[in-house]
Amino acid sequence: MKIDILTIFPAMFKGPLTESLIGKAVGKEIIKINITDIRSFSKDSHKKVDDKPFGGGGGMVMKPEPLYDAIKSAGVKKKNNSYKNPYAKPYVIYMSPQGKTLNHRIIKNLVKFKCLVIICGHYEGIDERIINYVDEEISIGDYVLTGGEIPAMVLVDGIARMLPGVVKEESSVKNDSFYNGLLDYPHYTRPAVFKGHKIPEILLSGDHKKIGEWRAKEAYKRTKERRPDLLKNRVKN
Ligand code: SAM
Repeated sequence: MKIDILTIFPAMFKGPLTESLIGKAVGKEIIKINITDIRSFSKDSHKKVDDKPFGGGGGMVMKPEPLYDAIKSAGVKKKNNSYKNPYAKPYVIYMSPQGKTLNHRIIKNLVKFKCLVIICGHYEGIDERIINYVDEEISIGDYVLTGGEIPAMVLVDGIARMLPGVVKEESSVKNDSFYNGLLDYPHYTRPAVFKGHKIPEILLSGDHKKIGEWRAKEAYKRTKERRPDLLKNRVKN
């Protein structure tokens, strides 16, 4: 998968997308991440990418022209934009507090695409006319951050760990919270007693069938306690 990130702060991505599992996935070429500086598309002599809002009021707005050119330069080019596979066409996402709230279902859908283009906004956001070139607006929650870079990192991390080969043990992804519409079961490691707190006896039994049943029961129990809403809309993978 190729991911093009359009930003005015490219340096913010050093670290989150070069370290850990994502860094390894990039190294193994499971995922290709291309960071584009929107400023490089500004025709202004000062490389300006924002301007005052029409109608007055506070704050600045990201100008449409450099953003449009950055979007058009991104993705995997095809003659006449004719893609046999609809998932091969670059899919443009704008990180926005006004978008759909990110969840496992949205991530599962995005994993199908071969090329994503992610726009990171700033100031009051982007000129609304750019939404004509956006396929989906995604929010990472009902709060407002200073820019779209951290939301983009959240989205890329969530997508990358679903790609085969990124997380070593595929079964661990499948047992994770939300994958099967449930929260994960509780995990324990050595020592068996920590400050007087013992681990559940069953985990020392060596009976993997019983351990599996216990884990399934615990996952269901904690989902019912903490996120009963998930049980109502449960879709098994
Ligand atoms: N005026 C906008 C509003 O109230 O909807 C907020 C703009 S915010 C200060 C600047 C940029 O940060 C947005 O364009 C968006 O890219 C990003 N952003 C802020 N909060 C976000 C969130 N919860 N999810 C996704 N992106 C967010």
